[in-house]
Amino acid sequence: MDLKSIINIYIDYRTKMQALGYASYIISWDSETEAPVGCLEERSKQVGVLSEMSYRLERSDEYINCVKTLYDNIDSLDELLKVEIKKVYKDLMNSLKVPMEELVEYSILISKSQNIWAEAKVNYNYSLFKSTLKEIIDFNKRYVKYLETESLKGYDVLLDIYEEGMTKEKYDKFFSLLKEEIVPLVKQIKEKNINKDPLFGKLFDVNKQKEFADYLMDVMCFDKSRGLIKESEHPFTSGYGTTDVRITNHYYEDLLISGIFSCIHELGHATYEQQSNPTLDSTLLGGGASMAMHESQSRFYENIVGRSYNFWVKHYPKLKSIFNEELKDVSLDDFYRYINNVECSLIRTEADELTYPLHIMVRYEIEKLIIESDVNVDELPSIWNNLYKEYLGIDVPTDKEGILQDIHWAGGSFGYFPTYALGSAYGAQMLESVKKDLDFEKEIGKENLKQINEWLKNKIHNFGSTKTPDELLNISTGKSFDAKYYVEYLKNKFSKIYSL
Ligand code: ZN
Repeated sequence: MDLKSIINIYIDYRTKMQALGYASYIISWDSETEAPVGCLEERSKQVGVLSEMSYRLERSDEYINCVKTLYDNIDSLDELLKVEIKKVYKDLMNSLKVPMEELVEYSILISKSQNIWAEAKVNYNYSLFKSTLKEIIDFNKRYVKYLETESLKGYDVLLDIYEEGMTKEKYDKFFSLLKEEIVPLVKQIKEKNINKDPLFGKLFDVNKQKEFADYLMDVMCFDKSRGLIKESEHPFTSGYGTTDVRITNHYYEDLLISGIFSCIHELGHATYEQQSNPTLDSTLLGGGASMAMHESQSRFYENIVGRSYNFWVKHYPKLKSIFNEELKDVSLDDFYRYINNVECSLIRTEADELTYPLHIMVRYEIEKLIIESDVNVDELPSIWNNLYKEYLGIDVPTDKEGILQDIHWAGGSFGYFPTYALGSAYGAQMLESVKKDLDFEKEIGKENLKQINEWLKNKIHNFGSTKTPDELLNISTGKSFDAKYYVEYLKNKFSKIYSL
């Protein structure tokens, strides 16, 4: 068969897989936002059928041979297809390395483990979860063995899955710089102990909060004809191509800023998706390049833009006009201080910009131990608690606020956490470059973020996932990852706020 016919067969498979993927995406979006509880059991059967259909396509001999042949003829393919086939081939070969029975067994384990974890968490009882966690860890250790190559061993195998090119050596260097520079800075700030909450005890009407979220969508130039916003307990962004990008947000009457910053965060993810090159929509190269690259964008908008002074010089009057009564005694300076309060707290998702990476560092240290040593699951809670004491100086009262707080390990995700901190660090490195091309302080104080969006579009978003994270950093900043920009950014910002 000639190459052109093989390419056509590949495209035919890809089109079918994307259609099934789109159906699953819509169903899962609906389940997370609007579906009546009563339909969930029946729905899970239908979802099972769809995922089996796509699994059969992916594992059919015709498809596997087709990908292999295209990979063997990679130099004859056009540029875009070349990049796509390299990716598809790598993922396919990895998935073929793991025996099917083990994968099936593992997916059954994972479908149960999240409920077991949730049960343990509500009951403050780690012992209900620990044997399941051990099974998940044992699988991941075997999984690592299956996927090991000459250059990738141990924990590096998992790190590479979530962030291509990142290794333990690079992360160690990154986190040891944070340990050296940020842990003492946090300690210094903690000693100042001047946090105050000017919004304490006030209630903020949820409908008015939604009105402000709608205003933020315009500030960020979110294209409402190609996306929408709904509500869910944990905010997230999901989408399919550049024409259907959806975010959720949450609103708490007593926590005004939670809804504001999760909204900006998710809009950051959405901007990445909406600004990707639309010609990539029909390929497997649309959307973000990696977990950390995606997170770099959401956190760039949330923290670097959204928690900056000039942003609020422009937008605080709008917020005040919506919450006239509630904010009448809260000055812009008070508000700015409040949204940048540093507090050593127990819960990662509620952490401020400065302490957030320290929460990640705890998880990174533990994952290294889990994957590369024989640490006993019984010891994990005390290791967790000791690290919180060491990095954040706080005592963990119960396992609910400790080892059981995140769902990630119950879902089998090891190697994912470090990308959260890395994303913030990528963002700080990009800030240096944005400043060379734009009057950044002026741009964040404008009615909308059009110019900043445009910069990020040209340097990052437009490439979809056709480039590796390292290539994108080189395109956007002229160099590979260097943690010093992040550390300098944090030190400058918070030393100024806390007059250190
Ligand atoms: Zn995010």
